Amino acid sequence: MKFGGTSVADEDCIGRVVKILSHYRSTGNELVVVVSAISGVTDQLHAIAAEVETARDEPPIETFIASMRARHEKVLRGVAPGEFETVMPEIDSRLDNLRTILTSVYNLRELTARSRDYIISFGERLSAVIVSAALREVGIASRPMNGCEAGILTNGQHGCAHVLPESENKIKSRIVPLLTEYVPVVMGYMGCTGDGIVTTLGRSGSDYSAAIVGAAIEADEIWIWTDVDGVMTSDPRIIDDARVLPDVSYLEAMELSYFGAKVLHPRSIEPAMVKGIPIRVKNTFSPAGPGSCVVDAEYHDRRVVKAITYIEKVSLINITGAQMIGRPGVARAIFTALAGYDVNIMMISQGSSEANISLIVDDEHLKAALVALNDVMENGYIQDVTHDRDVVAVAVVGVGMAGTPGISGRIFTALGNAGINLMMISQGSSEVNISFVVKQSDGPDAVRVLHDEFGLSEEDE
Ligand code: ASP
Ligand code: MG
Repeated sequence: MKFGGTSVADEDCIGRVVKILSHYRSTGNELVVVVSAISGVTDQLHAIAAEVETARDEPPIETFIASMRARHEKVLRGVAPGEFETVMPEIDSRLDNLRTILTSVYNLRELTARSRDYIISFGERLSAVIVSAALREVGIASRPMNGCEAGILTNGQHGCAHVLPESENKIKSRIVPLLTEYVPVVMGYMGCTGDGIVTTLGRSGSDYSAAIVGAAIEADEIWIWTDVDGVMTSDPRIIDDARVLPDVSYLEAMELSYFGAKVLHPRSIEPAMVKGIPIRVKNTFSPAGPGSCVVDAEYHDRRVVKAITYIEKVSLINITGAQMIGRPGVARAIFTALAGYDVNIMMISQGSSEANISLIVDDEHLKAALVALNDVMENGYIQDVTHDRDVVAVAVVGVGMAGTPGISGRIFTALGNAGINLMMISQGSSEVNISFVVKQSDGPDAVRVLHDEFGLSEEDE
């Protein structure tokens, strides 16, 4: 069971977590817990690291440590008063380490990828100690474990490390023997390289930690406890009557998490899928709710379309040039250049005239993408690059769409009738998703029109 940042945000939240865990433990389950940092803490760690690196005058390291201490102390006192005397020194010693590394970064004004990863892993180092103490407080034997101790071995890609296959046996041999004795509380988000250097798995990476651990120990199920009721048919900020999907297939969950539904980290699905382990998404604030279950069986309800996602903060890039036609190597030049600048491409479309390629990238990657494409232009592969930030992407997702004719007809007719202009369209050949780009101001309407067209608010029969 993995608990996200908002599920461990304060004393009351951790109290709910303890209730949930006590319940499932007392009904005869062996449990491994994976936790995120207390909500907001990872952001603060990122911010202080950046501040210290560039500080001209003495940066506020002491103030920062004091505020981290105050927040965690209050939570610990609230959830584990009987453990306070033994656990607070542990928190203080961790904070001492954090102070030391921040001071070194300041002295050198150098923040390497390694030191950043070490710093931003502290949120989980602190939260896991508290959650574990809270379990002991109610008489459940428990111990915290860092990602490295848990056997999560990664490559050295700091900030977005990948877990290595060797982890599987390591995790299994380190965790399984403990389960009859106590409940390990694993620090999410972090792992280490073979040399023991701390790495992190990318923002929101605790889901990935949980999936890796769950798959390695061959858990019966992987449960992701969060602050929403499950995977929804659409963004509830736009669609009032968006509905929780009781069943979602792995493929759909992957498409949905990649395309903006922030419930599950995209990389968390594959490890579970490979082993056929169901992932359940549940709300810590209403634990009795059914949640969503991500399963192997391609679940077909009468709807072929399951969900519509809405992706903001993206930019459309149009690449044109008559010399692109029939010329091999143009796509290679474009994508190699973009990869060289670490630009992540979310959508691609090329017409068969070949004189134009359109891409969607995250707004944050736009600048780098334009620099990269400028290089390609100078090499004469392409003529012109234009971009538009005033766009949103919408993805229509459902495994039932594969091989069902007429879906794109319905999508584009509904949008046309609503007077919505499409700027770009793309469908992967897996046919599990059809995505398109519209002007920002048309985005919410496009989602509403399609949510209605496919009757997504109606309960299953
Ligand atoms: N604490 C990390 C983050 O905020 C990882 C996680 O929450 O899953 O990104
Ligand atoms: Mg998070």
